[in-house]
Amino acid sequence: MEERFICDRNLGKLAKWLRILGYDTLYCRGNADRDFLRKADREGRICLTRKRVFAQWRHSGRLVVIEADRVEGQIGEVVKVLSLTPDPSRRMSLCLRCNAPLEEVAREAVEGLVPVHVYENYVKFRRCSQCGRVYWPGTHRLHIEDCLRMRIPSGRP
Ligand SMILES: [Zn+2]
Repeated sequence: MEERFICDRNLGKLAKWLRILGYDTLYCRGNADRDFLRKADREGRICLTRKRVFAQWRHSGRLVVIEADRVEGQIGEVVKVLSLTPDPSRRMSLCLRCNAPLEEVAREAVEGLVPVHVYENYVKFRRCSQCGRVYWPGTHRLHIEDCLRMRIPSGRP
């Protein structure tokens, strides 16, 4: 999993989805500008933007101008244009909120931090090393996996 990304302010949902897939992805809240490109260069990230004008700027790194309006189409575009092969074992390895790695935690450690029915029904939990948010392989994840199956061509995870 070598690709790393930086998304401009118009691509917040796409950033979240890339994190779901396990790609280290920064989300840039400010206006995408030369600083955005510089940061991408410095960190070796692929720029994802909706600003066509970027395509004309001189930039040494890789840059993809996203055409689709909806996140489903956007993720498909990124996967196709860059021939990505997301590693299923990396899914849900990053915090959707802050892009920090999730750590496995013992079930007992999350008692009181998750709803009681979740605590009772799941044994595997992960926690964000930065914000402390707790994740579990629940319905949210099943929904995500269903969506991914539809969006990513068969033969790939
Ligand atoms: Zn977090």
